[in-house]
Amino acid sequence: MDERAYFERLDSTASDPAELFEHFEQRSVGGRTTHVLPSARHGIERGTVILDAADAIVRGYPSIPRVLALDAGVTSFFESGESIFAEEKLDGFNVRVADVGDEGPLAFTRGGYVCPYTTARVRDLLDLGEFFATHPEMMLCAELIGPETPYTTHDYAEVDSDAIRVFDVRDRESAVPLAVSERRELCVRYDFPQPRLFGRYDRSEATEEIWSAIEELDADGREGVVMKTADSDSMVKYTTESKHHDELADAFSLPFDLGRDFVFSRITREVFQAAEFDESDERLRERAHDLGESILLPAVETVRRIESGETVGQRHRVRGGHDDIDALLDHLRDLSLTIEVEADYRENGQRVVEFLKVAESTVDRTTYYLEGGTY
Ligand code: ATP
Repeated sequence: MDERAYFERLDSTASDPAELFEHFEQRSVGGRTTHVLPSARHGIERGTVILDAADAIVRGYPSIPRVLALDAGVTSFFESGESIFAEEKLDGFNVRVADVGDEGPLAFTRGGYVCPYTTARVRDLLDLGEFFATHPEMMLCAELIGPETPYTTHDYAEVDSDAIRVFDVRDRESAVPLAVSERRELCVRYDFPQPRLFGRYDRSEATEEIWSAIEELDADGREGVVMKTADSDSMVKYTTESKHHDELADAFSLPFDLGRDFVFSRITREVFQAAEFDESDERLRERAHDLGESILLPAVETVRRIESGETVGQRHRVRGGHDDIDALLDHLRDLSLTIEVEADYRENGQRVVEFLKVAESTVDRTTYYLEGGTY
């Protein structure tokens, strides 16, 4: 691969190609060779992929900063007089769709893998041919949501199996996004489903409006809001109490697999939200009670399950073509995950597979302590 040529196209902050490319790793998966940046470096996003055979760059999706104190965060993040677009933040997984090479549009995960199953799902859920015929240089950035996906399981009342929402459209080589209004119109034109837009606010009214959106989302067990400038190149996120508690419950259901930083950051979100919005002592105590339950109950349940001989982990159900599901299971095993298939059947002409991503550390360490091991 001609590193110098890609270096110039990437326009990073590194001073020479070697400084940037030492961080890329070469992967050969599914008969495809890619060069991937596994973590953000020198102004280039994590998950950026170079497909040399197609002479193509697919930039990663940028990390979205989070505000902990809503009012102060909005005031310091956005300029006075600037419009703030507030869109729903959906709880699924990030997928970039790009048409590179001659295989048809591919779905890239956040970490820069081409996921065969997600590729099949996005081709089914979105009418991509017409879009990429007109916009070959673009990538769609979308969230695959719903209870039947290989990476997340959050339930939405409006989604039976899985669904996709396009929240960003970017140039895949420069990563420059379309402005929010332009992107939303484009998605309407191609019939691409989008996340809900709460509104366009002036900075002086944004906190009140966004807090009321957060209360509504929280009551429905939904995740939160992403606030964006009109040109979409600055974004910041803020999430609901129910999301924090759900994530803590997930983390503590597999206590030795999800790191301590993960847990601490979720609790910190709760601390700042409570300090800013929990006006009564009663409300604060209710939150504290719920927080405690989301930590203790799933963890105790897991210990008891392991004690009774069960294997624990993250459970997923997927449905689709026979070979697409085989390709998915191979892909997950290639990523060194331990997969246990718990059910494999046909329903309405489709294959349905339920599988467990085994949480090895939680199983091993919990067993060790249950047998009297010391901490
Ligand atoms: P980071 O953004 O720091 O990498 P993360 O990977 O944990 O953190 P999240 O906290 O889930 O990501 O938040 C960012 C993600 O939210 C985006 O990558 C995207 O997949 C998802 N998302 C859902 N809805 C939207 C939306 N309306 N606009 C932008 N992103 C959205």
